Amino acid sequence: MSDCLFCKIIAGEIPSTKVYEDDSVLAFRDIAPQAPCHVLVIPKRHIADVNGITAENSAIVAHIFQVIPQIAKAEGLENGYRVVSNCGSDAGQTVQHLHFHILGGKQLALEMA
Ligand code: AMP
Ligand code: ZN
Repeated sequence: MSDCLFCKIIAGEIPSTKVYEDDSVLAFRDIAPQAPCHVLVIPKRHIADVNGITAENSAIVAHIFQVIPQIAKAEGLENGYRVVSNCGSDAGQTVQHLHFHILGGKQLALEMA
């Protein structure tokens, strides 16, 4: 996706602060952190959002959720953390490339909506 911000980060065309990378996943620090630790985890293959997850591509989501605890441990989030994926305009999704926010490093507010 040539006009996708996160595809450009994957391609190295836009800089990011990487915290994890393998063949299929990239994780980097959010540019506008909402918590002391705010990391975005994305598949290297473009998927627009949660609605774009299918039987054919869902293995990457399982892999992302295997990687998330490794990142959380490396980030020192031993007291816990939150994983969030916004899907669509009502959720406030601003980048149309599937991503999972890891938020932690403080006591997070309980409000979910
Ligand atoms: P969402 O609002 O759920 O779509 O999340 C998109 C996230 O991407 C926001 O938290 C932004 O702060 C973050 N973001 C936007 N541009 C960049 C960038 N160049 N590098 C890192 N994070 C970014
Ligand atoms: Zn993309």
